[in-house]
Amino acid sequence: MSELLPRAVNVNRAEGLLSAVWPDGEVTTVALMQLRQICPCATCAEARGENPHPGLLEAPSPTKPRSRGLPLLGDVRKFQISEMRHVGRYALGVTWADQHQSIYTWASLFEMKAPPPPAVSPDDGDGLARTLDGRRSASQ
Ligand SMILES: [Zn+2]
Repeated sequence: MSELLPRAVNVNRAEGLLSAVWPDGEVTTVALMQLRQICPCATCAEARGENPHPGLLEAPSPTKPRSRGLPLLGDVRKFQISEMRHVGRYALGVTWADQHQSIYTWASLFEMKAPPPPAVSPDDGDGLARTLDGRRSASQ
């Protein structure tokens, strides 16, 4: 199974959460704030202090102050989604309320379901307890 395509992607604007339902019934839930902070585009990578082009030295732009550390949470529009779309069959395109655009591959979203909740025994009530993360699958 090389192709990952969620059955559904939902945004809970009230709680600021995005969730993707995978074909196996598992669900990835990501805070929009976190999603924005891991935006893989070059602009955001640079803002996080990562060099988007390893091996290339870019002259620091005088008009763009380099912010170190976490961005301030002043502009909430940064963390609100105004639009989502499919990018081919491999990625989710997000337009944020501040007009910034991000592309997240389904694979990268799929991997984000990883963090296991501590001390939760496997849910064996529904026969779906083949995962180790103990997360209850959304039955709809
Ligand atoms: Zn970005």
